[in-house]
Amino acid sequence: MPTESADLPDIEEKKWHSLSIDETMEILSASEDGLSDEEAEKRKQKYGLNKLPEPGSRSAWMRFFLQFKNVLIYVLLGAAVITALLEHWIDTWVILGVVVINAVIGFIQEGKAEQALDEIKKMLSLSAAVKRSGRQRDRDAEELVPGDIVLLESGDKVPADIRLIYTRSFRIEESALTGESAAVDKNTEPVEEDAVPGDQTCMAFSGTSVVHGRATGVVAATGAHTELGKINRMMSEVKQLTTPLLNKIDEFATFLAKIILGVTVLFFGIGYLFHDYTIDELFLAVISLAVAAIPEGLPPLMTITLAVGVRAMAGRNAIIRRLPSVETLGAVTVICSDKTGTLTKNEMTVRSVSTATGNFEVKGTGYAPEGSILQDNDEINPEDHNSLFELAKAVRACNDAEIYQSEEGSWHTDGDPTDAAVLVFGYKAGLESFTPERIDNIPFESEQQYMATLNRVDGQSLIYMKGAPEKLFELCSHQRTKDGRQKLDPEYWKAEMEKMAEQGQRVIAAAARKADDGQNDLNPEDLTGEMEFLGLIGIIDPPRPEAIEAIKQCKKAGIIVKMITGDHLTTAKSIGRELGIGDGEKAIKGSDLQKMDEDELRKAAREYDVFARTSPEHKLRLVKGLQAEGMICGMTGDGVNDAPALKRADIGIAMGIKGTEVTKDASEMVLADDNFASIANAVEEGRTIYDNLKKAILFLLPTSGAESLVVMAAIIAGITLPITPVQILWINMVTAVTLGLALAFESTEPGTMSLPPRHPDAPILDRYLVWRICFVSLLIGSLTLGIYFLLYNNDIEVNIARTVAVNTLAAGELFYLFNCRRIHQPALSAGFLENKAAFWASGILVVLQLVFTYAPFMNAWFGSAPHGLFYWAYPVAGGVVVFCLVELEKYLFGGKVEEKESEGHGENAVVKE
Ligand code: ADP
Ligand code: MG
Repeated sequence: MPTESADLPDIEEKKWHSLSIDETMEILSASEDGLSDEEAEKRKQKYGLNKLPEPGSRSAWMRFFLQFKNVLIYVLLGAAVITALLEHWIDTWVILGVVVINAVIGFIQEGKAEQALDEIKKMLSLSAAVKRSGRQRDRDAEELVPGDIVLLESGDKVPADIRLIYTRSFRIEESALTGESAAVDKNTEPVEEDAVPGDQTCMAFSGTSVVHGRATGVVAATGAHTELGKINRMMSEVKQLTTPLLNKIDEFATFLAKIILGVTVLFFGIGYLFHDYTIDELFLAVISLAVAAIPEGLPPLMTITLAVGVRAMAGRNAIIRRLPSVETLGAVTVICSDKTGTLTKNEMTVRSVSTATGNFEVKGTGYAPEGSILQDNDEINPEDHNSLFELAKAVRACNDAEIYQSEEGSWHTDGDPTDAAVLVFGYKAGLESFTPERIDNIPFESEQQYMATLNRVDGQSLIYMKGAPEKLFELCSHQRTKDGRQKLDPEYWKAEMEKMAEQGQRVIAAAARKADDGQNDLNPEDLTGEMEFLGLIGIIDPPRPEAIEAIKQCKKAGIIVKMITGDHLTTAKSIGRELGIGDGEKAIKGSDLQKMDEDELRKAAREYDVFARTSPEHKLRLVKGLQAEGMICGMTGDGVNDAPALKRADIGIAMGIKGTEVTKDASEMVLADDNFASIANAVEEGRTIYDNLKKAILFLLPTSGAESLVVMAAIIAGITLPITPVQILWINMVTAVTLGLALAFESTEPGTMSLPPRHPDAPILDRYLVWRICFVSLLIGSLTLGIYFLLYNNDIEVNIARTVAVNTLAAGELFYLFNCRRIHQPALSAGFLENKAAFWASGILVVLQLVFTYAPFMNAWFGSAPHGLFYWAYPVAGGVVVFCLVELEKYLFGGKVEEKESEGHGENAVVKE
């Protein structure tokens, strides 16, 4: 029994690798049954959480100062110097104020974006199979304490430093620690005291990966006390807040800024040569131009849009691990999905049983061990049917699952669902307490498709095995009958198997044989020869209804869905039919793929939608084949051996629940609920994010465009500026933080999932959208100028005329925001009221403009002037005109372009024969 907390073990500086298992267990006050939850809680108090200190993120100050590394800031600082030299002190202070505020806004937005990504990262926390009070459960790895008993199997990341107490062909890849990428064999023998970690073969170190076999061990060190903690090398990769598209936009913004500086010099020349501006005025004019034209709000807006979108995606159970893949998602043309658990519910229930002496039906659903066994519709007593009973014993013993009842009374398993299903069948056959001693076992692996155990039953050594029927036919010579045995009749069983498979049942066969009494270990060689076939078990695993819907949606969106499974061909075909994958007829086996050369495989990869009896290496070949056909490929996976296929795929998708850590590491995206429907949702969100990025550009560029047009026109005409530099700064600032931000929260446009995938090389703005940007720039620019002239020519005071001009710009943008919320569709369509952010932002902008117009301090700083109610008619009318004309433009040109575009995409999406 674990000792009381009063004398919790001192674990510092122990040489665990040189101690025997018994010594280790004693020092750690541990037992094979694990700690109790109370004891674990006490130890957590003493040793702390099992986690490493957060990676040294950039300090807040550093992040703040980095905001100043920006072309616009340089321009503004230049402007501040010039205005100071001209002794325009108010302008100088306002400009400097804006510089600081801009940096603060950037700082906050970036912080928000980083925070969103951090939250997402937390969703990917490591879990570990821990034994506490004799029961095995999955727990957050942070909860581990020294003395915990942990189970490790292939694909796991080792969650702490662990002294191994049982191993079975256990191999670990320790490159995270030693840099050595070849896997090392591990065992339980102590080694010399001065062995380096790489030679401590009885230890499994935190952060390394299990590549083969399984093991049990006791946690010796956690958190910062682990070897990894000591060298303080961080596991987590540095997160980067960017994607190729965002990089391009950044480059574009910088490029634009340089051009604008050039244009500014040109206009300085024009003003100087052709008009009698004072140097003062001229400087102010060109500063206005530079400030107006540089789209400084764009890069941060893109970043925050991306972060908001990725968080929305996580809310729908698709967790992005690598940001650039957000862009790829919208271009995916084919998704290859596992069947079991992703397309199906993974709640397996045994439905039918076939033995040499008869067929049976099993009642009940899920993992509740309640339900009778029927033969010809009559309930039977399993003990009276020898062959059935032996079959049930075999799968009861050759099983690693446990079932348990939750507090609400429902039944669950943490183990393999196939195992759990046949375990429940064993319970239903009255074998709950049939738990013979297990001497050795060969665990189930997808590649070998069977599991076997060596048990001692009533003083006799027996080998039990269960697995794919084809596999067992090879190994069995006889079949069990009522009270003896006869030669195996494979044809009979194959026919029985087909019958089960045609109903979409997953078929498991079981076999047994006597072993030598002295036999202490079980190896694959022991299974050849004299195994006795016991019968077949048909398991149902119903399709997820939401997966059926999602597959329909994908088809509409021009995405092909393919199913890849280890299950039998007929089962796969039948489930495929239910799900709407493929035509219900065509399906191909892994063994047939095996024989093909690359060209044939490419063809097959495209032609077939259902792949049965495949193993992970086929997945890799399929991905390559599909990519060679020009497709953008998403691929799901859960086991260690799926990792190469996931790495190769354009979007590797790992299962969050049943996926191994190694697979998650290789993936771009993790499904929190293992559900295919979440992939379709992710594609939809991915397309939405891309659209929203587009909308951000579509909204911000005309703002800069309109302002610069106003200033350029004024300089060319040689008149006083309709808007002053500080006023332009004001407009840019308030619209970027209010209106622009609202677009990040825009929901999916209706019809997004009826468009074909985007071509990966298509530029973010097509020709039509560039036209739209020019059109809107001209529209808002000329309205602003027109209204200014109208007032100015009517001898209205210049400050009032300017104020009205600024309000016109603001109103134009406010209304244009509502145009932008839909790229091609009418603004006033379904979902108009949905994005509350748009309305909040508009409200805030209105308040800010009122302050701008009427607050005396604003009048002093920004040269604005209060005016009568009547003057508001101009901006409002201007805004309405913008809204209507842009909608008209959309109606006239937008729809048509979209149609043409989608045709174009279609060609790319559907690969030509
Ligand atoms: P998938 O996950 O695609 O359904 P698997 O690789 O899990 O495919 O299973 C392939 C075959 O291996 C199954 O059809 C079944 O016959 C057999 N099998 C699956 N799970 C087990 C298990 N736990 N024990 C024994 N055999 C199994
Ligand atoms: Mg499986």
